[in-house]
Amino acid sequence: MAPHYCIAIDLGGTNLKTALLDPRYKILDRHLLFTGSFSRKADLIRAITRCVETVISRNKLRKKDIVGLGLGLPGPIDVEKKSVHFFPNIPGWKNVALGRILEQKFMVPVFLDNDAKLMALAEHRLGAARGFQHAVCITLGTGVGGGIIIGGRLYRGRDNASSEIGHIPINETGPLCNCGGRACLEAYIGNRRIMQEARRIFGRDIPLEEISRRARRGDRKARALWRAVGTRLGIMLVGVVNMLNPQVIVIGGGVAGAGAVLFERVREVVSAQAMAVQSRKLKIVRAKLGNDAGLIGAAVMVRERTQG
Ligand SMILES: [Zn+2]
Repeated sequence: MAPHYCIAIDLGGTNLKTALLDPRYKILDRHLLFTGSFSRKADLIRAITRCVETVISRNKLRKKDIVGLGLGLPGPIDVEKKSVHFFPNIPGWKNVALGRILEQKFMVPVFLDNDAKLMALAEHRLGAARGFQHAVCITLGTGVGGGIIIGGRLYRGRDNASSEIGHIPINETGPLCNCGGRACLEAYIGNRRIMQEARRIFGRDIPLEEISRRARRGDRKARALWRAVGTRLGIMLVGVVNMLNPQVIVIGGGVAGAGAVLFERVREVVSAQAMAVQSRKLKIVRAKLGNDAGLIGAAVMVRERTQG
C-alpha cells in the first residue's frame, strides 16, 4: 500500500505546530510547542526534530506510512535547495539547509516553503479560493503576508520571494521596516499598529479580539478603528486589483477576525477606486481554513510534490 500520512509543521514567531494529516487533509493529531525562548538555531532544529518524533511515535507510524514532511516557515525559502535564506524575525538563520538535515534524520521526502505561500495554496486547493484560476490571498497578523495564484498555480517569482504584500510601501516617508524598506504596509495595518492605535483611543491596552467584539456590538470608536485599517488595506488592494486582475481576494489571519466592518470598508474602497473592469466581478472574502491553513498547505505541498 502507498504511504498514507503527511506530517506538517507550521513555524510561527512564538510557537511550532506539528500535525499528522490523512490523504483528505484531515488533521488526525496535533502537537504544539512554544519556541519563544529558543534563541539558538540548533535548539530550534532540535525542537522541530523532537516534535516530528513525538507525532511519529505516538501514532506508531513506520517510515513506509509517511508520504513526507512539509514545513511552512516565516521567511524566504529556496524550495529547490530546500533551504532557508533567512528569517526576518528569528535571528541566526542564514542559508540553512533545513530540508537536507531533516531528510537525513527521518529518511522521508521533506519539502519547505514560505508560510504565507502555503496558506494561499491551502485556500486555493481546499478553501475560499477553490475553483478560481486567479486569486490573491493575504494574511493579516503581526506580519502581513501573501500568496498569489495565477492560472491555478502558485506564483513564485525568480527567487520564490514574490507576494510580500506587507512590504509594499505606501508612502515616501513612513517608518523604517525590518525588511530594509520604509513605509511598508505592515507598519500601517499590522497587529502592532492596531494595538498602538487602540491604546491611544481607549487609553489602555486592549486585545485585538476585544476591539472586534466592541465593533460588533456597535462601539463607534472600535468601528472607526477597523474602518481606518480597512481603508489602508483597501487602498493597497486597489493597486493589487488593477495590476493582477484576480477573481477573488481571500483575507485571513487574526485581524480578519474583525469581520464585517473591516470587509465592508475594504470592498467599499476597492469598488470606489479600482478600475471598473477589474473590480466589477471581484470577490473579497474571508479565508476558510483559519489557523490550520499553514498546516494544510504544508501537507498539500508534500502530496503535490511527491505525485511528480
Ligand atoms: Zn518591509
